[in-house]
Amino acid sequence: MRCLIVRVHEIALKGRNRWRFVEQLKSNVRAIFSDIGIGRCVPQGARLEFELPHGVTDEAISERAALIFGVQNFSIARVVDPDLDSIRRAALELVEGLRPASFAVRASRSDKRLPFTSLDVEREVGAAVKGRLECAVDLTNPQLLVVVEISTDRAYVALNKRAGAGGLPVGISGHAVALLSGGIDSPVAAYRMMRRGLRLSFVHFHSYPLLTRASRDKACELAAMLARYQAHATLMLVPFAHAQRQIVAHVERPLRVVLYRRFMMRIAERLASGVGATALVTGESLGQVASQTLANITIIEQAASLPILRPLIGMDKNEIVEQARELETFEISILPDQDCCTLFVPRNPATRARAFQVEAAEGRLDSARMVEEACARVERLEFHFPESLIRNPG
Ligand code: ATP
Ligand code: MG
Repeated sequence: MRCLIVRVHEIALKGRNRWRFVEQLKSNVRAIFSDIGIGRCVPQGARLEFELPHGVTDEAISERAALIFGVQNFSIARVVDPDLDSIRRAALELVEGLRPASFAVRASRSDKRLPFTSLDVEREVGAAVKGRLECAVDLTNPQLLVVVEISTDRAYVALNKRAGAGGLPVGISGHAVALLSGGIDSPVAAYRMMRRGLRLSFVHFHSYPLLTRASRDKACELAAMLARYQAHATLMLVPFAHAQRQIVAHVERPLRVVLYRRFMMRIAERLASGVGATALVTGESLGQVASQTLANITIIEQAASLPILRPLIGMDKNEIVEQARELETFEISILPDQDCCTLFVPRNPATRARAFQVEAAEGRLDSARMVEEACARVERLEFHFPESLIRNPG
């Protein structure tokens, strides 16, 4: 038998949230392996053990397990009888085909009544592995580590622990709506909030047919990438051209971006309440562009009453780009598109919109109706991972 052993940070298990943390993590692991069908789960303190089915490679399991937030590190172990022969065989099976520069075996046993010591196991298994791999033993800094943990009725044999995704299990911090633009920043912002345990639904505003469908297609690709971290995600595509036309007809150029943004907040907030989300997430970073000066951020957020989370607010662009590259969203984000916020706006929009100007401009618009109409035309797409199928129920 094989099992996936995930370890969570001890700190996460302190206090009264322990039970919720473990239950959420268990349910997230099951969801992300739903196509594989994972077996029984045995929680043991900061370690959770899941039985793995046959027929799926360790690599495939590892790739998935690395997406699960709340996991500090994990390993895939062979579970065998607690005798030297079985342990040795399992170890040889695991190292088959590997070519490390050096290795070591580390054994521990919880039952001191066993007829061999940890040192016996390290020696025996070490000699067998050395014979097979023909590489050096390095006890202090081995490239390959064979870990053997022995209890009364079973032994676990595994290779190096792999780093988990860290953070908190998705869902434990609640549900929010992330504004996903198709640019570089918002997918990074979404990732950072999912990693803090928020379950996200995504909203994208597009100006099709005034502009091409490029930004919409990018938002779909990004939502599919991000859905991998929570097994499922909804993307709400909002046709924004109609609202933009009204704004263009009634509002002077320098104020338009701020108004676009205020309407995005209003619409996103309405959609959030429809899905039971209690916060909005954006990829804003202070001072990055004209709409992100402190004055404009303030005026924009006043259009919504839900809290707006901005995990990138203090980050430099190059730090954001670096993370986008790691997440592999960068390549999608830099595909050419047409951003709806650049539509009918001057090269230098207002960097310091005043409340009275904004109020006067919005006084000329039927805001409630614009929000209503946009929400009525929302297109909903469901992204499921692992199948990664895009289903359109409506
Ligand atoms: P990004 O790289 O995320 O597009 P940006 O640097 O281009 O960000 P802005 O265009 O000012 O900055 O957008 C700030 C934030 O507003 C975005 O991170 C995103 O959360 C939200 N936003 C902007 N445009 C859209 C859109 N068309 N649909 C959904 N959200 C948007
Ligand atoms: Mg943008």
